[in-house]
Amino acid sequence: MATTFRRRRTQSTTSLHIPIFLSAAILAGFAHAAPERIWFNGDIHTADLASPAAQAFAIEDGRFSAVGSNAAIRSLADENTELVDLAGKTVIPGIIDGHFHLFSWYEMSRGVNLVGLNYIPSWIERVKAKATEVPDGGWIIGGGWDHNAAGGEFPTAEQLDAIAPNHLVALGDIDHHTMWVNSRVLEKFNITADTPNPPGGEIVKDPETGKPTGILKETAAFIVWDSDAFVPVKSEREKIWREAITHMNSLGITGMHNMGRSVRELEDLMELVEAGEFPLRMWYGVMVNSGEEVEQLLPFYRTFNKHAAQFRQTGPRLEFGYFKGLTDGVLSSRTAALASDYSDAPGERGKFFIEPSHINDIVHIANSENIPVALHAIGDKAVHAALDAFEQSPVKSDLPNRIEHIEVIQPGDLPRFEQLNVVASMQPQHAVGTIDPYIVQRIGKNRSSLAYVWRKILDNGGKLALSSDWPTSPANPLAQIHAAVTRQSLDGTPKGGWYSDQALTFDEALYAMTQQGAALSGWQKEVGSISKGKWADFVILDRPLPEKMNLDLLQMQVESTFIAGGAVYRSSTQQTAAREQ
Ligand SMILES: [Zn+2]
Repeated sequence: MATTFRRRRTQSTTSLHIPIFLSAAILAGFAHAAPERIWFNGDIHTADLASPAAQAFAIEDGRFSAVGSNAAIRSLADENTELVDLAGKTVIPGIIDGHFHLFSWYEMSRGVNLVGLNYIPSWIERVKAKATEVPDGGWIIGGGWDHNAAGGEFPTAEQLDAIAPNHLVALGDIDHHTMWVNSRVLEKFNITADTPNPPGGEIVKDPETGKPTGILKETAAFIVWDSDAFVPVKSEREKIWREAITHMNSLGITGMHNMGRSVRELEDLMELVEAGEFPLRMWYGVMVNSGEEVEQLLPFYRTFNKHAAQFRQTGPRLEFGYFKGLTDGVLSSRTAALASDYSDAPGERGKFFIEPSHINDIVHIANSENIPVALHAIGDKAVHAALDAFEQSPVKSDLPNRIEHIEVIQPGDLPRFEQLNVVASMQPQHAVGTIDPYIVQRIGKNRSSLAYVWRKILDNGGKLALSSDWPTSPANPLAQIHAAVTRQSLDGTPKGGWYSDQALTFDEALYAMTQQGAALSGWQKEVGSISKGKWADFVILDRPLPEKMNLDLLQMQVESTFIAGGAVYRSSTQQTAAREQ
């Protein structure tokens, strides 16, 4: 890779300011121009169904100008073309993660991380250590705790009061649907025995004393999450966004569908776009609870996207793309809506988060404005209701509607994804990460064969987008692909994979994390695959694909990440190589 990274022509690193008119003007007088740069000798997985494999590609003005065999592409070079030997390494399109919560970087980077700790005392230990760093009165945030992995009981405010009585402690669980707070937070937000549950949420109360226990479920948690008191000041938010994007670029992520909560986030992000410091393509969705909320947001939607359209010089950058609604909750806390009882809680079936009539309003109003909707639906009853809402909408948006998660489904609903042009947006690590702690207990053996059925969705003609739902599972796309192709968790269990007939091939999983995400946003002709004419968003991994799809996949490291032909990330070894030239 000795002569790889010298920049022969002017090109900004973030790729936002490539003067596209320049090439047209200069080249107009020439019959033929050789490419600026050719990458050859790679194991290139293009995610282009017409030609899924290639050895080489050429880049001109930030776009792939040719893709094919070593011989065909190298023959395009002249003496000014820079040649880069990929030495057999794997190249994939830039990852477009179809379901992401980027601002969670705030809690994950500034707070305590309880992910993977299966023992309440170990959570307490981490919070106690944090309390020595944070001044009294300050927030202790973070989380990722999983009560199912720690015996099934929810923790309490008292446990936090004992070690951090003077801090504001608010810790999200691994699903980000439940929050564990101390008494200081309950006081600050005036959550008492008399506070009624908000619609779609629950303030868990002690059955004897009636006092809040410190567990806030679903919308009750958003009393804290959405408050101005919880969100950091602007200068801090800007730092958080930048760090988060840099980190995601280092994992090969060049695009994402961000599941956002507020227009404040969109305004923050637009400032980065305007400054030319937004090395990402983001399709942004705002959560709504009713059709009224959709209507209220429409003027902002139009103004925002009109403004955003000015920053498309190197392809899509930031768009307010869709609305998100929550049909139900999650299986872990039995808030997901099931068509029949929870196997480990007879009589319980979860419930709708928003009444179906409100869901129908959201879909109808958004689709009438040609805006697609993403509906969170985990239980089979919720999936059915979400499909009904899409079916009943008299007008449909041009871009497909979608359902998020679909953790268990009724067989009769499988063909409806194709019939209604609804995309299934699913998270491979949710499947393999939850088998042990609770899935089989919650839904029982019979329904387990209808859980996380990626293959069945495809077999029934449906389209599948895969994602991480970070921070609820690893952002690393290779971890998601590993789960998709093996149906095994990160420790390689269970042997042979969990319902391995639902596993995908590497290229199917890759397509679902690149081109399908692009298609959901209407970007499929611009990005999403390594194809002639598209913006050159790609990722170089440091080695060939393993021969067998197993834990070796997770050993692969991202060497560099490119957006529109410009590097947005290089590993430290790559940076050294570049300096030594
Ligand atoms: Zn999510």
